[in-house]
Amino acid sequence: DYPVYGRIEGHIVIIGFGSIGKGVWPLIERHFDYDADKLTVIEPDARQAKFLRQHKLHHVSTALTPENYREVLGELFPDGKGFCVNLSVDTSSLDIMTFCREIGVPYIDTVAEPWAGYYFGTTDNAARTNYALRQMVRDEKARNPGGTTAVSCCGANPGMVSWFVKEALLRLAADLGREVTAPTDRDGWARLMMSLGVKGVHIAERDTQARRVPKPRGTFVNTWSVEGFISEGFQPAELGWGTHETWFPENGHRHETGCQAGIWLERPGAITRVHTWCPTPGPQFGFLVTHNEAISISDYYTVGDAANPEFRPTCHYAYHPCDDAVLSLHEMFGSGRQQTRHHILSEDEIVEGIDELGVLIYGHEKNAMWYGSRLSNEEARDLVPYQNATGLQVTSAVLAGMVWALENPGAGIVETDEMDHARCLEIQRPYLGPVEAHYTDWTPLQDRWEHFPEDIDETDPWQFRNVLAT
Ligand code: NAD
Repeated sequence: DYPVYGRIEGHIVIIGFGSIGKGVWPLIERHFDYDADKLTVIEPDARQAKFLRQHKLHHVSTALTPENYREVLGELFPDGKGFCVNLSVDTSSLDIMTFCREIGVPYIDTVAEPWAGYYFGTTDNAARTNYALRQMVRDEKARNPGGTTAVSCCGANPGMVSWFVKEALLRLAADLGREVTAPTDRDGWARLMMSLGVKGVHIAERDTQARRVPKPRGTFVNTWSVEGFISEGFQPAELGWGTHETWFPENGHRHETGCQAGIWLERPGAITRVHTWCPTPGPQFGFLVTHNEAISISDYYTVGDAANPEFRPTCHYAYHPCDDAVLSLHEMFGSGRQQTRHHILSEDEIVEGIDELGVLIYGHEKNAMWYGSRLSNEEARDLVPYQNATGLQVTSAVLAGMVWALENPGAGIVETDEMDHARCLEIQRPYLGPVEAHYTDWTPLQDRWEHFPEDIDETDPWQFRNVLAT
């Protein structure tokens, strides 16, 4: 009884069959009409070979590199039709997207990923930012507007959370008694956010998924890519920098070129803590891990000139990963070395917990509203095989992005802020568990330890200076 959203003519190529690739496959199978013998998985990790063989999936075991990607992908898309679904680490989203657009094949990814070596290969921290990675994709969009659709960064976050921001703004407007209709362009959305008095957005996440066994020492445990999380955790902390900020971090840097919506800090994101709020724990620490959406949302909702805007929200990730991942970070940063063993918690070993992922929209008349998905692993397991709650929030966004791309084939390079949020969430919602709005009177000035003086601004609760934990 599942809806089939359309036919994909030609070849489908899934690059990477890790926690996300493996979870996307059953959704593609369920929701699209396509020729099964034309689906290929590119996956260099031999551990996936048995599963792929047993499920009769055509498997190419070559790792994509800057030298071979055109040839490998060119052979897999012989007739310039199909869909390229990039869910791997260590492959350049920009290069692969550019090639797919050259040959007329729609493309989607969940992160602006660079080729292997980028994250640790340079000591120039400005070059290692997501700002830089995103700006390259934006520059390509500006150089080559329109053309075959390529959806950039369409997972849970970046991705779905941008659709939540729009739903949350409309909900807030209604709750404030404003009569608004959904804006139809970027400027309209930005002005709506400004008119509602919003100062900023935390992408506020609490992952409570846990297994029965304690985390073994020397193993990095997470609910999604360990490699991906370590890479982004070692990038500098980054955030979209709002016009309401009156203070500037001592270790902060601006960018001279590009959209100028973000700043970065001279410190790894995964040990930079912020005060934030989610429905289950209430106030909590999150990590200021850099993410594409921190920049894209601040950019999208900018009113006025990029260099000197009239309005721009602050926006950043405030991530409390599963407890085992918090311990893993503690162990890794404390020892100064990466664990050699990696483990992604599977849906079958997780015994409890939810991934609570939403947007905390703050600074307005009603103080703050968290709006998001509170999907449990138990529910995720009932909905689709081969993924936990974290995975399903990502894979269902990929599904929505693919449907949107099929329905909008000549949209060029787009980010999720630029897509029809209502259509995308309509497709995704059956997989998100409860999607809820929660208002709170909490501000980052509350629930602090009073015995030690802190460098905070007591006159203005939602300053980033108060959000950043010292
Ligand atoms: P994973 O580590 O479980 O799997 C990644 C897979 O890519 C692995 O199986 C690996 O063998 C494969 N791979 C590595 N190098 C490759 C190459 N050169 N060519 C082809 N394949 C290669 O990761 P995951 O949890 O499945 O995540 C996949 C991607 O999705 C990552 O980039 C991650 O950051 C991203 N992600 C985004 C979101 C989001 O919400 N936007 C959430 C989770 C993951």
